[in-house]
Amino acid sequence: MKPEVPEKSLGKILVDPAKAVLGNVAGAVSETTELLDQSGPLKPGTGLASGVLALTLSFLCLLGVIAFHFPQYLTTPELRKNYSPDVIRHILFAALVLSGVISTLNVLLNRRRGLNAVAATLVIAAVALGGSHVPIADFPDHTPYIGLDWFILDLLGSTIIFVVIEKLFPLYKGQLIFRREWQTDMVHFAVNHFIVGLALLTVNFAIHRLFGWMAHDSVRDFVQSIYFLPQLLLCILAADLVQYWTHRAYHEIPFLWRFHAVHHSVKTMDWLAGSRQHILELICTRVGVLGALYVLGFDKAVMDVYIIVVGFQAVFNHANVHLPWGPFKYLIVTPDFHHWHHSSDDVAIDKNYAAHYAFLDHFFGTAIKGQTGFPEKYGVVGDYMPDGFVRQQMSPFRSQK
Ligand SMILES: [Zn+2]
Ligand SMILES: [Zn+2]
Repeated sequence: MKPEVPEKSLGKILVDPAKAVLGNVAGAVSETTELLDQSGPLKPGTGLASGVLALTLSFLCLLGVIAFHFPQYLTTPELRKNYSPDVIRHILFAALVLSGVISTLNVLLNRRRGLNAVAATLVIAAVALGGSHVPIADFPDHTPYIGLDWFILDLLGSTIIFVVIEKLFPLYKGQLIFRREWQTDMVHFAVNHFIVGLALLTVNFAIHRLFGWMAHDSVRDFVQSIYFLPQLLLCILAADLVQYWTHRAYHEIPFLWRFHAVHHSVKTMDWLAGSRQHILELICTRVGVLGALYVLGFDKAVMDVYIIVVGFQAVFNHANVHLPWGPFKYLIVTPDFHHWHHSSDDVAIDKNYAAHYAFLDHFFGTAIKGQTGFPEKYGVVGDYMPDGFVRQQMSPFRSQK
């Protein structure tokens, strides 16, 4: 006798595949979110490294497409003057193709299917929203904005440049890209870029209010009459003198240390670690430094190069990099010099404050001298800083241990 096959109703036939699809989607999303919560090595040959690359690129592509739709709210006026939308379209197209091909191949080869399916879905969403062909209409110039373009371009550029430098000249060989607490520093990185408009507005307002009365044409004319290179070196010196003393104040005045401790709480030094900073510290330091440069009235070309120098050194000095600096280590701030500043070893407490010129610490007697090798441990003494962006922003206002 034949076993009786239960007859499926039409409703059930329709519901089962829908359930299966929903189950797969939920599985893919949870695999991806679990992965983003983790740290550790990207095991080769599993589709993990290529999947992470595809996911990152596809996510940035989607953000890029959205920025093309709303340039007045999602791009930075100072930045968009300096890049061509056509070049960005080519980069966007290449990134879409690359992440689309990688993620599709991984899905077909059953390598990290969930993660790669999410990446492929993001590519499809970016293409559905117009991909690299979103037209740009005329838009007003004076709207409040989020620096989404700055975030995308700086993340792509910094990752490419600094991951390569860190792999070629590592201080700690074998240190992972996705080390512990990378997520927190990535949020700091993102927020610092998103608030660029608000920060610029606040800093400019404060500078004119606080330092406007100090600015005189005679000083400005004299400074601008200096040749480019000495004027640039002088500009960096002026900036670093302010930076040195504000930084020293952050260490030596207990109330200010509450804010600066956020920056010192990183326990693994790499290019991303420098992004960890309290927002109020970031704004106050910029007001002090840029205020001094505004009063001295440096030339615009000098200021443009200074902004590049400070942007590069702020990242590079935290990178997991070791180079043979020779006598230059007494002149300029290198990753070796600033790594020691972040150490919680006894010998390193409240030392090496400079951001550009190491000789300032030698001059003011705060340089670590005769130290060979590298720090044993990094972070704040007692390791009391909580992990997580919001908790760290709140920490100065909480009772301290
Ligand atoms: Zn410090
Ligand atoms: Zn630092």
